[in-house]
Amino acid sequence: MPGRLFAATLPLIVALLACSGEPVEEPPAAKGVAPLAIAIHGGAGTILKANMTPEREAEYRTILGAALDTGYAILERGGSSLAAVEAVIVMLEDSPLFNAGRGAVFTHAGTIEMDASIMEGRGRNAGAVAGVTGVKNPIRLAGKVMTESRHVLLSGEGAEAFAREMGLEMMPPDYFETERRRRQLERARAAEAERTSDAGPVPLIDPEKYGTVGVVALDGEGNLAAGTSTGGTTNKRWGRVGDSPIIGAGTYADNSTCAVSATGTGEYFIRGVIAHDVAARMRYGGAALGEAVRAAIDTTLGDLEGSGGVIALDARGNVAMRFNTPGMYRAAIDGAGTRTIAIYGDEQ
Ligand code: ASP
Repeated sequence: MPGRLFAATLPLIVALLACSGEPVEEPPAAKGVAPLAIAIHGGAGTILKANMTPEREAEYRTILGAALDTGYAILERGGSSLAAVEAVIVMLEDSPLFNAGRGAVFTHAGTIEMDASIMEGRGRNAGAVAGVTGVKNPIRLAGKVMTESRHVLLSGEGAEAFAREMGLEMMPPDYFETERRRRQLERARAAEAERTSDAGPVPLIDPEKYGTVGVVALDGEGNLAAGTSTGGTTNKRWGRVGDSPIIGAGTYADNSTCAVSATGTGEYFIRGVIAHDVAARMRYGGAALGEAVRAAIDTTLGDLEGSGGVIALDARGNVAMRFNTPGMYRAAIDGAGTRTIAIYGDEQ
């Protein structure tokens, strides 16, 4: 069984890497056991305890925990990391709490246009969709683009036609719309109207746009996968597409380095190619996962003055979650079985 083979050869791989002089992170898993791991984010932004009711905070922690358990159970049953990523993202898309699927943010025109992508680390196959309307689970559509088409990224009406061809569930606009997101659009439009024309474009940093979802997973065969799904940013215009469906910016997976999903002001993540920046620091610079994530957020994203964060996972089950915003909804079970659920910056 490849999983067993991986477990048996793991100490050897680690020893060889150590001999090559590259920095190695200690495998967190028990010796001889192929590690399983998963990490989830539900968006980064100005998430402050002062703005949160205890009830809402409990709701977020509950769903993050349930999502973690769902994904981990798939991995424990021998399911693939790709299956775990897709199933967990579907669950979060179906929850109105997050800015993905039901509960996605509104565009300036009052529509909902969603972006999603998925990638597997063994063959670096990927699928993505941008600006789709009416598709209940955009992550499923991204998965179909990967497995059932010759393409990587489909957009708008063409992507929706493909969704119908694939028999995916479609929903009317009111399925996606929530009062909370409508109020956010109204506030964003009012703020925009108050700005004088010489003040330039409205800044991208919108404290209320958070809620993008992303998952990275490692299965018993040693395969990594990553996925991201979002409604983008409140009040976006002109068919704006963020980083979430851009492979290398919002999502990346490669078994030889790591799986990454990003959240934040997408324009900066595209310009900094942040998800790939993490992998490149490992592949070319020999950085360990934690070091690569730190540099990507603090240096690459920081130098651009972008805001947001990433979750990342390597093939040994190490997890890194880092952000430069006040908070990021996040949860993980690493290769050693350590479970984390956190929201604010000052939590572990
Ligand atoms: N990165 C997403 C985008 O720019 C938004 C987010 O993560 O909050 O579309």
